[in-house]
Amino acid sequence: MIIILKPDIDPNGPEMTALLDYLAQFPDIQTRISGIRGTSRVVNEVYLIGPTHHVPQDTIQRMPGVEKVVRVSSKYRQIGRHGGQMNELGFTYQGIQFNQDSLHIFMGPCAVDTPEHVEIMFRNMQRVGVTTARMGAYKPRTSPYDFQGHGKTCLPWVFELAGKYGIKVIAMEVLRAVHIEEIKEALDDAGNPTGVMLQVGTRNAQNFELLKAVGSQQEFPVLYKRGMGLSIEESLNACEYIASEGNRNIVICLRGIKSRLGDPHRNLVDFMHVPVLKRLTRLPVCIDPTHSVGSKDRAPDGLLDIFHATAQGIIAGANMVLVEFHPRPELALCDGPQALTMQELDHFMADVEITRKAYEERKALASRAVLKEMTA
Ligand code: PEP
Ligand code: MN
Repeated sequence: MIIILKPDIDPNGPEMTALLDYLAQFPDIQTRISGIRGTSRVVNEVYLIGPTHHVPQDTIQRMPGVEKVVRVSSKYRQIGRHGGQMNELGFTYQGIQFNQDSLHIFMGPCAVDTPEHVEIMFRNMQRVGVTTARMGAYKPRTSPYDFQGHGKTCLPWVFELAGKYGIKVIAMEVLRAVHIEEIKEALDDAGNPTGVMLQVGTRNAQNFELLKAVGSQQEFPVLYKRGMGLSIEESLNACEYIASEGNRNIVICLRGIKSRLGDPHRNLVDFMHVPVLKRLTRLPVCIDPTHSVGSKDRAPDGLLDIFHATAQGIIAGANMVLVEFHPRPELALCDGPQALTMQELDHFMADVEITRKAYEERKALASRAVLKEMTA
């Protein structure tokens, strides 16, 4: 059960005290209070944990300061929408807003290789006005003989270069809890010239210890990538692990699912789940067209499959795009054949702009249609 308080209620005031006193008569129920900063207001919510079937909803509903009482039927207590809750669970990091209305493009190489390549990438991003990057230092590889990433040794110069070119956030995969510490240390040593969004990759989508590790810290937001063989429900439960540890600054990412039916693509593109995730949760939703498609194949209309997949996600309302670029894909140490080149950057950004505008027009059209129905 979740008790949503009216917006002006002080979490230390008399209404909250009265509510907690009343709840104290149910000894098997634990309470957790949390303040959620939405786009327009802060809402305080009280979570009741334990067997709540004997807690009278009507009595609580009538108590002063209570806006709404929601019985949680689904498992996603913290990240889910439960009918009456706030519109969304957004957050601001490094001065950038992430929510179900925003759109940010995170671009960069699969794996960090040389300072020269990283600098070319950042310089081009600055040229087109993108301040959010993706970059792998710790790489989970299918074969133990493949390049495993430079690890913490590359962090100092990556962060320094990011600062030089005004990059505000880098999405970076972590494989173990110690990597979070290494990133934090390297950022501090460099004077925090940039920020990091911790990425939980598809291969660790049910690594519950890692989920708890990224969830139990508050400094970095988390980009959770759907498990390539997991249902939406399993992936949302994994996000709930992160949130239940205390960190709700989560973006959930669709990156395609493993299926022979996706051939010739590397994965079956699952971007129709963008609106589904926005309906089921209050999290911003990301798409990863690169790992979904996994090739540079081009359709007869002149557009790369990666461009088409990106457009599908954005026109369905995606809030973030993770896309691989490399200045010299033939030299990339990981995923070169699917990386876009610097020459494709401007075309990609222009294409994104077209589809985002189309999405915004579709959204406006839908709200006009609803209004018309209501006034008819
Ligand atoms: C990546 O984004 O670099 C990556 C390895 O993606 P995924 O975990 O989706 O395979
Ligand atoms: Mn990759």
